[in-house]
Amino acid sequence: MNQDCIFCRIAGGQIPAKELYRDEDVLAIEDVNPQAPCHALVLPLQHHDNIATLVEAGDGATTGKLFEVASRLGRERGGENGFRLVINTGSNGGQTVNHLHVHVLAGRPMTWPPG
Ligand code: AMP
Ligand code: ZN
Repeated sequence: MNQDCIFCRIAGGQIPAKELYRDEDVLAIEDVNPQAPCHALVLPLQHHDNIATLVEAGDGATTGKLFEVASRLGRERGGENGFRLVINTGSNGGQTVNHLHVHVLAGRPMTWPPG
C-alpha cells in the first residue's frame, strides 16, 4: 500500500469508488470521468507503477488476471459491438495515475489514431 497513491487508497477502501468487481488480486471500478458510456478501470490491488514494471517483476499471473477481468467487462458492456482496452504508460503514453490500470471502454464507436 502506497499512501500517496490514489488507487492504492481506493484498493484499501480509504477512498470510495464504484466497484464493479473485486477478488484477491484485482479491482475493477467505474472511471470518475467517463470517456464512453462504459468506462471501467481494472487495477491490481498491489501497487505497480505501470505495465512495464509489472512485467519486469515477472508477475504473469497478475498480468493475465488483469486482461481476463478487463476482457470479461468489455464483453459484458460492449456486447457484439466490441470494446477497447487501453493501458497508458508513462508521460508520452498519457498516464496520469501512476498505479497500473487497464481502461475498458465500450458503448460507442472508437476512433483511430488516438490523440
Ligand atoms: P490515466 O490517464 O491513463 O492514468 O488514467 C487515469 C484515470 O483515472 C482517468 O481516466 C481518471 O478519470 C481516473 N480517475 C482518477 N481519479 C479517480 C478516482 N478517484 N476514481 C475513479 N477514477 C479516477
Ligand atoms: Zn498504488
